[in-house]
Amino acid sequence: MSIESTNPATGETIDTYEADSDMWDDHLENATETFEEWQTVPIETRQQLLAAAGDVLRDGSEEYAELMTAEMGKPIDQARSEVEKCAWVCDYYAEHAAEFLGDEVVAGEPNARTVVAHQPLGPILAIMPWNFPFWQVFRFAAPNLVAGNVGLLKHASNVPGCARAIEDVFREAGFPENVFSTLLIGSDEIDAVIEDDRIAGVTLTGSDGAGRAVAETAGSELKKTVLELGGSDPFVVLEDAPMDETVETAVQARLLNSGQSCIAAKRFVVVEDVYDEFIDRFVEEMDDQVVGDPMAEETDIGPQARDDLADQLHEQVQETVDQGGEVRLGGEPMDREGAFYPPTVLTDVPADAPADSEELFGPVATVFRVPDEDAAIEKANDTRFGLGASVWTEDLDRGERVAREFESGLAFVNELVKSDPRLPFGGVKDSGYGRELAREGIREFVNTKTIWVQ
Ligand code: NDP
Repeated sequence: MSIESTNPATGETIDTYEADSDMWDDHLENATETFEEWQTVPIETRQQLLAAAGDVLRDGSEEYAELMTAEMGKPIDQARSEVEKCAWVCDYYAEHAAEFLGDEVVAGEPNARTVVAHQPLGPILAIMPWNFPFWQVFRFAAPNLVAGNVGLLKHASNVPGCARAIEDVFREAGFPENVFSTLLIGSDEIDAVIEDDRIAGVTLTGSDGAGRAVAETAGSELKKTVLELGGSDPFVVLEDAPMDETVETAVQARLLNSGQSCIAAKRFVVVEDVYDEFIDRFVEEMDDQVVGDPMAEETDIGPQARDDLADQLHEQVQETVDQGGEVRLGGEPMDREGAFYPPTVLTDVPADAPADSEELFGPVATVFRVPDEDAAIEKANDTRFGLGASVWTEDLDRGERVAREFESGLAFVNELVKSDPRLPFGGVKDSGYGRELAREGIREFVNTKTIWVQ
């Protein structure tokens, strides 16, 4: 069997890769043997190797960026930033891993030495999506490899070139063979890998459907999972919001990565007093965005990552309109080759229409009018998702109070929701569980062991 990668801007085949369907057992065996050695390598050495991976990324930035853009269509400048961010997370854990995983001596028992140690678990399977094809993987790999685990990547089927390139980054940085390896297999083959005794844990970033399937299989084997699933983040605009900055960031927060981000702002909740001003300016700025060739420097919005994803997005828009939603901008597929979808703004969306209740993974914004702050918080939380949320106000105390009321794993005041290696990242409700990044992220797949010496 082979896996093909296709350029979503042109429909052309980029490359064809031999699938690993008959070989995953070998990969797993190699990973298991490698773990025995790797966990004994001093953490300082593992940190040095991770820092070297950051250098390899920086040196090859243009090549990796072009590969991402070709395979899934993100604007090239954003692809370069993604490579830079991957290097940052390598640097971050290269600097802090020993501090996060070092023994903690707990005082209090007079006749014993009591210590909490953090030991690696073994081969961890990472099932990853195409939207940030490097970042999602490095966010998993940097903390886990430096912690002494080994990584097996099952990447999304439309980015096999990125999967192979990431494997090469670690090889080039000097990591021993099989500390990180890629399994080019389809999602229909993954259950057998999850069920295999040699897999110690599973992390998935993707849709809640995929998350439920993986959690069910892993749960039946009593294996730990971390799930980073979708979101329908609210962007709350209060009457005292700094409007220039708010509108500018609203557009950015919705359209980053051509709208295909779990932490993109998707539901804009605006209080009555400033609704008219916000919507007029927001529609105007959304309309100003350049849709086009993702390799061109001036492009703001590239194609959606696959034709079927663009089709699915349009179905959600159409169904919302059928149920009474108004189209203020866009709303029709573009008359050009490739999986392009225009910036779209929907208003007057009834409760439970797709644009209200589902995740819209593309450049489509839904704007809601609410009477006041209390109603804004209620609307913001009226979703099954709970990943990120932001609020816009000149009053920072008020902003922080509202942020604390959001039912989400991330809450921002006067800033778009973003991930940062120094801060834990993850959601509540149907957005998943567990945390990535920071101290919390590196401790997800370790054995936090109590040692009592008397
Ligand atoms: P999926 O969730 O289907 O894919 C993400 C990863 O999970 C891929 O590696 C995929 O493999 C794998 N996968 C899919 N189904 C299963 C399964 N049953 N068991 C194990 N692994 C599985 O995302 P799609 O690409 O289909 O995108 C659909 C929607 O998902 C988007 O429109 C968006 O709403 C959401 N999404 C959210 C992301 C996020 O960052 N939270 C990222 C991507 C998508 P394969 O590619 O081989 O099917």
